[in-house]
Amino acid sequence: MSFVDIFKKLSRSELKLRLYSSTAADVERALQSPQGNVDSLVSLLSPAAEPYIEQMAQQAVALTRQRFGASIGMYIPLYLSNLCANECDYCGFTMSNKIKRKTLTESEIKDEMRLIKTMGYDSILLVSGEHESKVGMPYFKQILPLVTEQFSHVAMEVQPLEEPDYKELIAEGLDAVMLYQETYNPVTYAEHHTRGKKSDFVYRLESPERVARAGVDKIGLGVLLGLDDWRLDALLMGHHLDYMEKTYWRSRYSISLPRLRPCTGGVSPKVELSDKGLVQMICAFRLFNQQLEISLSTRETPKLRDNLFALGVTHVSAGSSTQPGGYVEPNTELDQFEISDDRPPQVVANAMLERGLNPVWKDWESGW
Ligand code: SF4
Repeated sequence: MSFVDIFKKLSRSELKLRLYSSTAADVERALQSPQGNVDSLVSLLSPAAEPYIEQMAQQAVALTRQRFGASIGMYIPLYLSNLCANECDYCGFTMSNKIKRKTLTESEIKDEMRLIKTMGYDSILLVSGEHESKVGMPYFKQILPLVTEQFSHVAMEVQPLEEPDYKELIAEGLDAVMLYQETYNPVTYAEHHTRGKKSDFVYRLESPERVARAGVDKIGLGVLLGLDDWRLDALLMGHHLDYMEKTYWRSRYSISLPRLRPCTGGVSPKVELSDKGLVQMICAFRLFNQQLEISLSTRETPKLRDNLFALGVTHVSAGSSTQPGGYVEPNTELDQFEISDDRPPQVVANAMLERGLNPVWKDWESGW
């Protein structure tokens, strides 16, 4: 049974009712046995859990330290292309946006990587818009060997691919795939994804399973917070994560919790998620799943990021550019979205050290 089958049986109205009718007693019960328990996750994400955030945070910190020590993995995105054949109204790369389009050549990728290397990174996330014909498998196969030669951990955040494609990319050194559903509400999804292959909600929902069947080591799920009710989207992502972990247990999992940021021609958040809400969500997921990797991007402000580092986050980007060629030649006109934390990586790393945390630039070496 695929997650799509399970998803179809989940009643949104019932889950919403449970979220918004949880009581303090439910939260206290959830705090006793939160691990792997989707019923507990309902209560931990509910408004009733708000008075318990301090207690949740203490438990989250302890669980994170027990599993991950004081380590925080450092990674950086490398934007390959802003070409996109989809219409997503919250994104600066959306097809109808009249921006200059650019796909990096091999030599431009080498220049970007050279600069990234000077910042100390060894873990990279390759990002592109979704343009099958111009930025598809032939391009990925061409450029991946260049990247894996320079970085010991390579993740990709591109369009969903087919299972044999992922197998080919694993052979070229791919370690991880990030594939975000954006929202688990099909109606809201249809409102924001109006053209292109991404408008197929079900195809996207099935995609992490193709990634897992191909044998990718790490898979990232995520929702774009602000598109819909964040509590319900987070809960449904929890169901998805639970299914993936139980069915495809050979892969590791991570989540990203990006809040909607301004971009060229983009929409404003329909549902605001406060800083407190973001903290609650991170703690709830850590309590739910001790193994889970949680990524934090530069979308958040320096002050909030510094506080979140200690809380349950395990992977952090810094010094990021969200445009193709942006490390060598910064030009905010091409950005996918505005970043909030523009501190250099070493400054962010120092903020972690001051909090007793250990920024890790490289966490493994290939055997022989
Ligand atoms: S979110 Fe992704 S698919 Fe949608 S417009 Fe932006 S780059 Fe394209």
